[in-house]
Amino acid sequence: MKFFVKTFGCQMNEHDSEIIAGVMASAGYQQAEDIGGADIVIVNTCCIRESAENKIWGFIGNLKNLKDHKPGMILAVVGCMMQQNTIGEMLHRRGRHLDIVLGTYQQHRLPEYVSRILAGEKQIVDISEDNRDFPDSLPTMRVNDLSAQVNIMYGCNNFCSYCIVPYVRGRERSRDFGAILAEVRELAAAGVREVMLLGQNVNSYGKDLRRATPDADVPDFAAVLRAVSEIEGIERIRYMSSHPRDFSAELADVIATLPKVRAYCHLPLQSGSDRVLRAMNRGYDTAAYYAILERIRRHTPDVVITTDLIVGFPGETGEEFAETLDFVAKCRFDAAYTFLYSPRSGTPAARMDGQIAEREKKERLARLTAVQNAVSLDINRGYIGRTVDVLVEGPSKNNPDLMTGRTPGNKIVICRGDMGMVGQTLPLTITEAKTWHLEAL
Ligand code: SF4
Repeated sequence: MKFFVKTFGCQMNEHDSEIIAGVMASAGYQQAEDIGGADIVIVNTCCIRESAENKIWGFIGNLKNLKDHKPGMILAVVGCMMQQNTIGEMLHRRGRHLDIVLGTYQQHRLPEYVSRILAGEKQIVDISEDNRDFPDSLPTMRVNDLSAQVNIMYGCNNFCSYCIVPYVRGRERSRDFGAILAEVRELAAAGVREVMLLGQNVNSYGKDLRRATPDADVPDFAAVLRAVSEIEGIERIRYMSSHPRDFSAELADVIATLPKVRAYCHLPLQSGSDRVLRAMNRGYDTAAYYAILERIRRHTPDVVITTDLIVGFPGETGEEFAETLDFVAKCRFDAAYTFLYSPRSGTPAARMDGQIAEREKKERLARLTAVQNAVSLDINRGYIGRTVDVLVEGPSKNNPDLMTGRTPGNKIVICRGDMGMVGQTLPLTITEAKTWHLEAL
C-alpha cells in the first residue's frame, strides 16, 4: 500500500512529516508520488493561525470526495490541530469521514493504527498526552540530501500569551544527548553538510533533564553546539528557535568560538514596544534584546540575524507600533518573518481587550514590511563585489537554467552552473542584490 503525507505549518511540522514518512516506510508502506496515487492519506496539521486552520479544515473536507471515489482509502489526520481542546466537537461536525486522528504525542503509532483500521476497526482517535514510551530515535525519510533537520527537544514552557504551542505540544522535553549526536554522525556519513537543530526553545536544552536528575552532569545547549561542531563532514550548523530570554551572554560567547555556527542567528523579537512585550509574556525588554544583538555582532561583525515580528497584538497602540518600526530600523535585521496577530482559543491574548481590526493590522504589516525590506536591501547591497562561500543546492525554483545555493549566513544566492556543482561549496562573487536574495551571475 502507498501513503502520501500533506504538510501544513512550520519547520517543526515539516520535520515531523519526515519522521511520519520514515515510520510508515519502515513498516513496509511505500511513498506515493502524489495524493491521487495513495491508499493512505496523512494530513499533518498546524494551528498557529486561524486562517491556516480554516484552510486545513477545508482540505480535510475535500478529502471526503476522494475517499468516496476510492473506497478503502484510509484518511489519517495528525499534529497540532488535533491536540486542541475543541477537537471533539470539530470531529463531530467536520471529521466523521476520518479513519485515524492522532495528536502530537502519538504520531509514531500510525502504522499500528493503520493495521487496526485494515482489520476492520472504525475511527480511531488517540490524543493522549502520555509520552512515556515516545522513542528517542525514529526512522526518518529526509527530503533534502545536503541539509537535515534534527530535533533536540520537544514542547515549550514559555507560555507566550498569544501562542498555542505549549497547549498542543506540551512541556519541554530534551532529547537524549547521545541520540542527537548519533543521528548527526549518521547524517554526516550519508553526505549531509548542514544540520538545523530544532526545538521550540533550543536555548533551554537540558533544563528538564537537570531538574529530573539534579546530581547528573547534564549537557546544556552550548554543549550540544560544541559536540555537533566536532562532527566531521558537517560544515554548517543552524538552530531554531532561540528565545531571547534564554540567550545568555555566555551562550553568545560560546557561539562566537564555533565557526560552523556563528554566521547565522534567528532571534525572534515579536515587538519593539516594552509594554507589548510584557503583555506577550516574552520575559525580556528591548534593551535586553539589543544587548544580545550587540554582543553577537561584537564577536562576529558580518553575522546574519533574522527575526520574527507580530503586528496588531491586542491593545497595541499606534505609538507602540511606531516604537516597533523604530526599533526594527535600529536593529538592522537581515530579514524578518512578519505575521498578523491571530487570536487562538485558549490563549490569554485571545481574551484580552483591545483586539485590533484586520484592516488596521494589515496596514501596519505593510508599513513594517516596507521598513524591513529597505533595511534588507541595504544590507544585501553591501555584499556586491564580495566573494562568499556558497553551498550549491540545486536548480533555482524560479529559473531552472540557473542554480541556487546558500551562504554560511543562510542567504540565498542565485548563480550559473550545472547539476555537477550540487553539494560543492564554491567561492562566488556577488554581482547583484535583491531584498530576499543575492546573485552571482
Ligand atoms: S517560546 Fe513562546 S512563541 Fe515560542 S513556542 Fe514557546 S510559547 Fe510559543
